[in-house]
Amino acid sequence: MPKLAEPLYGAGTIGPYTFEEFLEVAAAFHGTASPGLMLGGFMVDAARRILPHGILYDALVETVKCLPDAVQLLTPPTYGNGWMQIHNLGRFSVSLFDKYSGEGVRAWIDPQRLGDWPEIQAWYLKTKRKKDQDRERLFAEIKAAGRNVCLVSAIQLRRELLGRPPMGRIGICPVCGESYPLADGPVCRGCAGQSPYAAVEPRPVRGAVNGRGRAAGSAPVDRARCHSCRVCVYPNCPSVKTAP
Ligand code: ZN
Repeated sequence: MPKLAEPLYGAGTIGPYTFEEFLEVAAAFHGTASPGLMLGGFMVDAARRILPHGILYDALVETVKCLPDAVQLLTPPTYGNGWMQIHNLGRFSVSLFDKYSGEGVRAWIDPQRLGDWPEIQAWYLKTKRKKDQDRERLFAEIKAAGRNVCLVSAIQLRRELLGRPPMGRIGICPVCGESYPLADGPVCRGCAGQSPYAAVEPRPVRGAVNGRGRAAGSAPVDRARCHSCRVCVYPNCPSVKTAP
């Protein structure tokens, strides 16, 4: 295990892929082979090479941009299987760590190492507008630089971030009628004001089930009623609106 910020040098492969192969894999998954995903591939690869082999590991990513997809393409952890945590600190960094001990490796881009790579530097530090970037040269630099613009260091994850807390008991929300963790309170978080949707009232429809249901946008099934008016936290409860 490296002690601090040990630079890595090696062949230009990204996991089991050549650079060109990973361009295709990345484009198929991500929509396009973005510079961040390609550099992220090298970063994940750098961390993976130093992590002891044969251990079960999780991932932690410090940005929501591109890098999570590099983890999902190159390692077992995904956001959906719960083995990848995202802590959006705004830093382009990824860690892989033993899922039981929390001991692992963090990789990031070292701005000090970008001096020899002007297109990567301009892209990474956003000193050039996208339309002014030389995309061909940018990707050529990423391929040539590989893991050499990464630094890695040993990390120890905080104990409370290891493992997944149990979900606990499940109940049915009295407002929306959907299941939710009872630990969230008397109603689900969506009905407690945290819903991301602008619609003032849920309008559930039977959506083309086996081709026999109503199409979306047709008359709603009347299900969205508050059943506990006096303590209702449902922001658009009709009963609250008309209460004296
Ligand atoms: Zn609800």
